[in-house]
Amino acid sequence: MADAYLFGRPVSHSLSPALHNAAFAALGLPHRYVAREVADDELREAVASLRGPQALGANVTIPHKERVMRHLDGLSDEARRCGSVNTIVRSASRLLGENTDVAGFERALAERADLLRAAPVLVLGAGGGARACVLALLRRDCAVLVTNRTNERAAALADAVTDERGRRAQVVAWPGHGALTRVAAVVNATPVGLAGEDPLDGQALPRVVIDLVPTARETALVRRARSAAQCTAVDGLLMLLYQAARSVTLWTGADAPIAAMRAALPRSP
Ligand code: NAP
Repeated sequence: MADAYLFGRPVSHSLSPALHNAAFAALGLPHRYVAREVADDELREAVASLRGPQALGANVTIPHKERVMRHLDGLSDEARRCGSVNTIVRSASRLLGENTDVAGFERALAERADLLRAAPVLVLGAGGGARACVLALLRRDCAVLVTNRTNERAAALADAVTDERGRRAQVVAWPGHGALTRVAAVVNATPVGLAGEDPLDGQALPRVVIDLVPTARETALVRRARSAAQCTAVDGLLMLLYQAARSVTLWTGADAPIAAMRAALPRSP
């Protein structure tokens, strides 16, 4: 038996343990997945604890996806390209940083909003989750605008994240509401919504709304998008499911049992 962890803060609300433990059970594996509240100054030690044979690896969430990279022995191409790690895989005593958010976001889009290609898209936020979404959107030939509360972080994202053809996002001033009328889609890659808030309160929505915030109850933004005429909502639970599925495969080598994992979600996304 080996354990996989979730390192982040806060993690008490996380739905990841239910998803991963359902996957291990469906695969007939004895592993456990445990959420661990990890503060900034505890991250190095938490990562070091993965080096023993009792650990499969870990998922990394808010706020550690970027700073965790300095504690790892290597990065996958995907993690290096977006400068963000959400999955650590142990191989012997080496720890490799992977990014399964890119694949999770792409698969959620493919299921709900596959027509979103070569279109202008506004991304709210510039953290680890935003970096993964930006890379996936650039690969779909989208013109990506990024806006963030801390402008320097948006600028750093635009500088660092490039697709295979060297394309980058463009920064617009926070909160970016002026750009909403010019885009086909908006992505909420901030945690605003966890406490019931709508990050775009009072603003008209574009035709596709993608909310990364994965909550047991539908977020206010997703609820509003679903009730608006001709608006497609992509729920954070769908991306959560698919990024978790990819992590399961990286840790176990097995195809992820999607149906069992989907059944472990608190509602249908
Ligand atoms: P992160 O790296 O810590 O980045 C957080 C981002 O949100 C930063 O851009 C930060 O802006 C912004 N932010 C935080 N609080 C804010 C506020 N009150 N108002 C406006 N902006 C705020 O975190 P992350 O890993 O990218 O995660 C962000 C959210 O996406 C979380 O809710 C996470 O659960 C979700 N997510 C979901 C999935 C999924 O599979 N569904 C995958 C990835 C992420 P500053 O730079 O100004 O601090």
